[in-house]
Amino acid sequence: MRYVVISDIHANLAAFKAVLRDAELRGGFDEIWCMGDVVGYGPEPHECIELLKQHRHICVAGNHDWAAVRKIDISDFHTDAAQVCWWTMQHITEDDAWYLQNLPIELRRGDFTMVHGSPRWPIWEYVLSVDEACASFGRMDTCFCFVGHSHVPLFFGQDDTGDCWMQRAPSEITLPAGHQRLIINPGGVGQPRDGDPRSSYVIYDDDARQISYYRVDYDIVITQRKMREYNFPSSLILRLNYGY
Ligand code: ZN
Repeated sequence: MRYVVISDIHANLAAFKAVLRDAELRGGFDEIWCMGDVVGYGPEPHECIELLKQHRHICVAGNHDWAAVRKIDISDFHTDAAQVCWWTMQHITEDDAWYLQNLPIELRRGDFTMVHGSPRWPIWEYVLSVDEACASFGRMDTCFCFVGHSHVPLFFGQDDTGDCWMQRAPSEITLPAGHQRLIINPGGVGQPRDGDPRSSYVIYDDDARQISYYRVDYDIVITQRKMREYNFPSSLILRLNYGY
């Protein structure tokens, strides 16, 4: 089976479509694994939920998903994020709200745990350092974990001795046998934050035990035009140009 593993679509339909098109061109896929934040920041929350629902998929809850249905408090949100969160609440359907409301906080598939933030704090924690990864390995009872939230493509490993390490901007990972464990972030679809504005995603082929990272150009202007139309904060519009 081949899985498209994505995170942080953030209501950016042009980016999401470009990722799925690219995955189709690379041999197609059987299922989407989504690490949350389908909505927030971007102008097409309903359309992104609909597109996800058109495919066989599983998805965990992100902080923006639950904020949009008032399941979590947004007082910690940056003002810009909070503004779009309020807008999102007004622009999703009842079905969309039901979908977001019922996203699970964590999922398991075979050797994989899936969460938005970290195995330690599934909704809120960013895993960006070796120390944070090491703490999370201690909370994992599977060998591998997919996370999102930071919008940065990278992965962390822990070897037999408990030592942890990280790799940024990976291209391929062959899943190790034995006791080595991995925390893998496919990067962000709708708002990449590693200095590269292209959407980031992963294809996981479970026969080959291979994880491949890809970057995809999408028409940023289409998304930005809609954001302007809805008077979204200019910082959110501009950041898409730079991938931060
Ligand atoms: Zn996010």
